Amino acid sequence: MNDPILPTAESMQRRLQELLRSSFATPAASANEPETPSATLDPVPQAVRDFHLTPKKIKAHLDRFVIQQDEAKKVLGIAVCDHYNNARVMASRPADAAPLEYSKQNVLLAGPTGVGKTYLVKHVAELIGVPFVKADATKFSETGYVGGDVDDLVRELVQKADGNLGLAQYGIIYIDEIDKIATPSDVIGRDVSGRGVQTTMLKLMEETDVPLRGGNDLQSQIQAAMEFQKRGKVAKETLNTRHILFIVSGAFDRLGEIVSRRLKKSGMGFGAAPASAVSDSGELLRFAGTRDFVGYGLEPEFIGRLPVRVVCDRLSEQDLFDILQKSEGSLIRQYERAFAAYGIEAVYTNEALRHIASLAGVEGTGARGLMTVCERLMRDFKYELPGARVRSLEITPAVLANPAESISELLKVGEEEARHIQHLVIDQFAERFGGQHGFVLRFDPAAIEAILRMALEKNIPARDLCESLFKDYQFGLGLISRNSGQSEFVIPAEAVDAPDRVLSQWVVASYRTKEENEKP
Ligand code: ADP
Repeated sequence: MNDPILPTAESMQRRLQELLRSSFATPAASANEPETPSATLDPVPQAVRDFHLTPKKIKAHLDRFVIQQDEAKKVLGIAVCDHYNNARVMASRPADAAPLEYSKQNVLLAGPTGVGKTYLVKHVAELIGVPFVKADATKFSETGYVGGDVDDLVRELVQKADGNLGLAQYGIIYIDEIDKIATPSDVIGRDVSGRGVQTTMLKLMEETDVPLRGGNDLQSQIQAAMEFQKRGKVAKETLNTRHILFIVSGAFDRLGEIVSRRLKKSGMGFGAAPASAVSDSGELLRFAGTRDFVGYGLEPEFIGRLPVRVVCDRLSEQDLFDILQKSEGSLIRQYERAFAAYGIEAVYTNEALRHIASLAGVEGTGARGLMTVCERLMRDFKYELPGARVRSLEITPAVLANPAESISELLKVGEEEARHIQHLVIDQFAERFGGQHGFVLRFDPAAIEAILRMALEKNIPARDLCESLFKDYQFGLGLISRNSGQSEFVIPAEAVDAPDRVLSQWVVASYRTKEENEKP
């Protein structure tokens, strides 16, 4: 056997330094920069200075991706706007101005798994343009070592912000499974570490300076040693958590019972409905108050720092169908793209989507069930079809029911049927495009023929071609709609050859209509 070729010590050191530099590229990492306290190093990022969203705008953005959870969208929208408006105002005040009173709007999302809690927070963070970090609370109690690890979340935020401390200090930290660190006082031999984690999180949620180099991880220690070698001292950098927004979540399985017991004891009804009539645990969670959470095992100080609370609902089979059909982040788009990468145009019928949604409903894991079911149902197709002479795939319940037979049938599909499927794909493109942007969009039959011809010539899937040809139509048709009130559009064949020219002619005409309409 040959000896392995080992790198030299110098090259190892160089590589290590590069790795560390790229992982910890903070402003103070440069040797030439003067060492200043972190407060003056952290300019207010553009995302915060320009923050001008409203709760309604945030909800409208979330509606594009997240099905249902309207209350959570509203509540998150309000909390996020309050948080970042306050941050912007604080940042615009002179450094010596008297501090403004503000209680942070940290949020608690309660609800079962797979209903979109993380998805909501991720999209909120993306919309605002701030980094976002997620962790499970259980991770911290399991270590049996309380303290340091929770701080890691803040350091991770800095990494997510590519070392930009200014941006990291306005990030969002999302901690899931918070119910698992609850420590009910009536349980014998209760888990004290859960309490400890709550206390540490509390400090973080309030305001504290987190050292940017954890004492325990190897990378930080090596970096500190390198810096010491270079400068003769190690800069002490910290990040203050004052402006970090905390969102926690959990299923709180037993909370419904606690609420129900309390309400029955106090003889209170639920407005119109008597207490006994509300048995659904999701419904009961809506009535949960601070003392119910304390009864569940959260420390009063901890739950007190989470003033904004909202329940996310279980998803019905219809919701799962809507997720597949309407959400911009639908898993189906992912499958379509995966097939398109092999030149296969895949189209799912609504019946197939209903079938998938109903199987996923049985899984009982919310939208996560969709992934499990799709993976199982699509496995053979994803394995057998790439490389076979198949260009189109219409997925129906019958096709899904018998993959082996369907695959051999697919290999025999004639030209005629392939064209039929491609027609469906183009119709579906128009339907989705219209649905997402609030228009009715159709293609003229001659336009469909032109798209199919061009797709064949260029050897690309028709859906991809439509996406690239009509990429500016969302904006253009929106403008026309505002100018002239037109909300139905039929795309003619010439728009396939010259999409931009046709669109600009329409836009110009719409301005004329607008002028006409505005004439006294
Ligand atoms: P959890 O509530 O456990 O945080 P997630 O938000 O992580 O669940 O959901 C897992 C995935 O399922 C998401 O990435 C998203 O693709 C999908 N999903 C879940 N809920 C919804 C929803 N309400 N609308 C659209 N997609 C959803």
